[in-house]
Amino acid sequence: MQTIADRLINARQEIDNAIASANRNPHSVRLLAVSKTKPVSDIELAYEAGQRLFGENYIQEGVDKIQTLKHLSDIEWHMIGPIQSNKTKIVAEHFDWVQSIDRLKIARRLNDQRPENMPPLNVCIQLNIEQETTKSGIIPDELPALVQEILNLPRLSLRGIMAIPAADVTPEAQHQTLAALQSLYNDLAAQVDTVDTLSVGMSGDMCEAITHGSTMVRIGTAIFGARQQ
Ligand SMILES: *Cc1c(COP(=O)(O)O)cnc(C)c1O
Repeated sequence: MQTIADRLINARQEIDNAIASANRNPHSVRLLAVSKTKPVSDIELAYEAGQRLFGENYIQEGVDKIQTLKHLSDIEWHMIGPIQSNKTKIVAEHFDWVQSIDRLKIARRLNDQRPENMPPLNVCIQLNIEQETTKSGIIPDELPALVQEILNLPRLSLRGIMAIPAADVTPEAQHQTLAALQSLYNDLAAQVDTVDTLSVGMSGDMCEAITHGSTMVRIGTAIFGARQQ
């Protein structure tokens, strides 16, 4: 049976292979281990195997894990799930990154509630480029206005774009979506100094995402195994 450490090695190898076939710079893609629904002991195993970036979807579950593991102070915690406005305070007080910003109200509250003794909260804007109604995220037309608003919030640092492209599409449709995201990201990075992150690619599509310029892949199942829920 494969251990979490084995699966991490495989995931990193797959990332390195995709980077090489895309002729990109080594180390240009970061691996976010998505530990939602998995126990703290799994995170500890991944940590021992050298993993430092972890992503959580559910606010209370994530905050509980952050508190339990606060002695592992070099973990970088990413919130990647939807945020209701009555939960922004504990997010601002615990996470290092929020990748799922999809409206100004949430951004403002996170900015106002970020504690003064912590560095600015790193944020990504979530895009719903295929305009799937079941998914969070803004459409590309709304991006410039939200970018400008976030740049006026001093307790947030805009790092880039996050997206969850549809999995069950033709290769051509997948290519179109990923290429559109890459182009929006390149434009944004050219305008804003702090932008360095295109967070796209999961267990099923990380190679295609890396071919299209992803700088951060979010991998759950391929590291921790299938989820119950
Ligand atoms: C669950 C989740 C992932 C990880 O998905 P896997 O298919 O398990 O790799 C990545 N990103 C987001 C936003 C998620 O909710």
